[in-house]
Amino acid sequence: MRIGLGYDLHRLTEGRPLMIGCVLVPHTKGEEAHSDGDVLTHALIDALLGAAGEGDIGTHFPPGDPAWKNASGEKLLKLTAGVIARKGYACRQVDSVVILQEPKLQPYISVMRNRLAELLDLSREDVTVKAKTKEGCGEVGSGNAVEAYALVLLEKK
Ligand code: MG
Repeated sequence: MRIGLGYDLHRLTEGRPLMIGCVLVPHTKGEEAHSDGDVLTHALIDALLGAAGEGDIGTHFPPGDPAWKNASGEKLLKLTAGVIARKGYACRQVDSVVILQEPKLQPYISVMRNRLAELLDLSREDVTVKAKTKEGCGEVGSGNAVEAYALVLLEKK
């Protein structure tokens, strides 16, 4: 068994989609990014790559590379799942936290869990997503940024 931890942060800006866990969350702002900026999926990708000893998201999908311009978190996660499988690992569990001041994520948590579970070939019981606010502190608390942490467990097949 191997564990991996991932973290990501994106600034929030007007006129961009807010993608979290491969789900579009209705809001006036979204992540500033070269890709779609899906903060939770990026943290999850880093956790998976870390657990497999495969570097990080920037190693596999360099932010300046035109190939990844506007790339969806879903596409990058599918590619990452391929990297993990080729190394002989299977993902067994995901736990995660998203920190966002607004909007409330509770209505979207279930669909995020289903979508991420489907992409990683897991059951929804093995993928958890928790939502927190920053209690108004700092840039995240002011609604100018979003953060996510993800923890994964891999098993050698
Ligand atoms: Mg990112």
